[in-house]
Amino acid sequence: MSLDGTYDDGNIFAKILRGEMPSARVFEDEHVFAFMDVFPQARGHTLVIPKHSHARNLLDEEPAVLCELILGVQRVARAVRAALNPDALVITQFNGAVAGQTVYHLHFHIIPRWEGVAVGRHASGAMADPAELKALAEQIAAKIS
Ligand code: 5GP
Repeated sequence: MSLDGTYDDGNIFAKILRGEMPSARVFEDEHVFAFMDVFPQARGHTLVIPKHSHARNLLDEEPAVLCELILGVQRVARAVRAALNPDALVITQFNGAVAGQTVYHLHFHIIPRWEGVAVGRHASGAMADPAELKALAEQIAAKIS
């Protein structure tokens, strides 16, 4: 998919927001929803998405929504750090298939990194154990401030 296109409200994140698909929820407020990535590139890989948005990517988004979203990303990233004590955090976001985007509802990835531990492949590999994701989500949620 190119950078241009129409928002499809059948995308997986829209379904998660509507409660039609399960997710390991970390945090939500009136603006953002954070949950565990089911194909984690590292332990604690968390996604943060805007709740009221029809933006497929960063370029589409309204400034006011973007402001709340990045504040949510920072808040969740601080909780990931406090919960899991990584050496570093990758915070990333893809726009368009050629860049690696696979889900077309704007989102940020928070990927903890530890010295000497390789990062996994993007959006592939084995689906994580739901019980493990739930436990991680609870650990991170406990550190939201
Ligand atoms: P993108 O490739 O668009 O930047 O990121 C989409 C992310 O969503 C990928 O990291 C992928 O692993 C994750 N993902 C795909 N399907 C699901 C799903 O059904 N639930 C959750 N929690 N994550 C998903």
